[in-house]
Amino acid sequence: MRIRDVLMGVAVALVIILLWYQPSFIPIVFLAGLFFLLFRFSSFKTPRFSAVGRSLAKRKPVGFDQIGGQEVAKKELLEALDFLLKPQQIRRMGIRPIKGIMLVGPPGTGKTLLAKAAASYTQSSFLSVAGSEFIEMYAGVGAQRVRRLFAECRAKARQEHKKSAILFIDEIDILGGKRGMHSSHLEYDQTLNQFLVELDGLGCHDDVNILVIGATNRPEILDPALLRPGRFDRVVRVDLPDLEGRLQILKLHLTNKPLDRQVDLKKIARETFGFSGAHLENLANEAAILAMRQNEATIKEHHLVEAVDKVILGEKLDRKPDREELWRVAVHETGHALVSEIVNPGSVSTVTITPRGKALGYMRQHPERDYYLHTLEYLERQIAVQLGGSVSEKLILGSRSTGAIGDFNQAVELAKKIIGAGLSSLGVVSIKDLPRGLLHRTIRQIINAQEQCVTDLLAGQKGLIKEIASILVDEEKISGELLREKITVARDEPRQAVL
Ligand code: ATP
Repeated sequence: MRIRDVLMGVAVALVIILLWYQPSFIPIVFLAGLFFLLFRFSSFKTPRFSAVGRSLAKRKPVGFDQIGGQEVAKKELLEALDFLLKPQQIRRMGIRPIKGIMLVGPPGTGKTLLAKAAASYTQSSFLSVAGSEFIEMYAGVGAQRVRRLFAECRAKARQEHKKSAILFIDEIDILGGKRGMHSSHLEYDQTLNQFLVELDGLGCHDDVNILVIGATNRPEILDPALLRPGRFDRVVRVDLPDLEGRLQILKLHLTNKPLDRQVDLKKIARETFGFSGAHLENLANEAAILAMRQNEATIKEHHLVEAVDKVILGEKLDRKPDREELWRVAVHETGHALVSEIVNPGSVSTVTITPRGKALGYMRQHPERDYYLHTLEYLERQIAVQLGGSVSEKLILGSRSTGAIGDFNQAVELAKKIIGAGLSSLGVVSIKDLPRGLLHRTIRQIINAQEQCVTDLLAGQKGLIKEIASILVDEEKISGELLREKITVARDEPRQAVL
């Protein structure tokens, strides 16, 4: 019986007694208010972690085969899980069991899925909580919750007749951030201390072996005590999926959807560099919604391509710029696209002037392959592409607009990358120790050089810019293929293209 139930019983009994002896409502109302407050406070102190666990248990278990890519993470996790599967051998060999595994990686990469798959693989009971659930403004509440959590985890495993339990703590950085960092640090520190005590108390001689799996996207703020050997013994990186991983994840999320046979999923995987598993799941879902809205029986490639845009930039907006503004946007985007094709042939995926999210139009590039290292030439080419929009506006319309603010910010970031990587005229330097004036001058130098190149490139292409921008104004969108066709034709008939 919980404290809340006892309080409820006492409250009802008192109210009945008071009604019997003294039919005045003031003390009754006073007592009712008092009990209401006590009731609220007791419910604060007893979060229902088990409710989370139960609701997850009812769902279909997740297997490792339902997780696309992440081969390294899966392998490392499987190795660690052997400790749960072979407790006798561990004991016989005198091995210290693994108590915690830390999954580190960007949001939506499948950390929760991996923890769930670990539970079904080891036939363990599974309990999931978020680090934020432990943090209270009242001293001692968090520590008490930690104690309850471990007790509930054991109780749940016993109830399910399981010998092991996986306790998954998402956003563990909230619970396990460096001590002394927070303003109400006493409460935070007490909570973490209690967590470390519970972790240290785990052993392979218990009737239920608990493995704690933590997940975070901010490993740098974790308290070192949490990661020391004997606590979170393994740190497993769960990175954004590579090309093969993206393909697998797309296939997984499209298996229950009617996909057209003609769809080239590899192409979609190539276009989604930087997408997490969650983005890809969303992409498959959005493509299905688009197909349904258009009364199509199957999901076609163009649905997937449009869904990529939607996932990157957001929903299409009703906002319709007037013709003059539309022309400027078309000229701007054409400038980006032409520079991209000139410096990096075959790189443009689509150009559109459909407003989405914060953008009035956009040009999307698709990398030929996943890049993890960038050369100076690559970075300079990317700066050139960013500047293409505003240079095009200046050449065709005689003036620039605020539409280039985002491009300039990106160009500055790229220039800083060049300087930080020791690829600028300054040689190897530390950006943060550079005098601001010198940093600014070097950035300007890099950007000015590229701006001059772009102006030279586009000055001879005014006719082509106007032609493509007119198509954009009429059609709203132009594919990379059509753009390349137009460029080839213009090259073959230079006199018509150059006005
Ligand atoms: P967060 O750090 O934000 O908590 P997470 O890394 O825990 O995110 P999950 O909750 O595991 O991410 O993933 C969210 C959703 O994204 C999943 O339900 C699944 O649909 C999809 N997903 C993510 N990664 C993968 C993957 N590798 N394979 C298949 N689906 C994935």
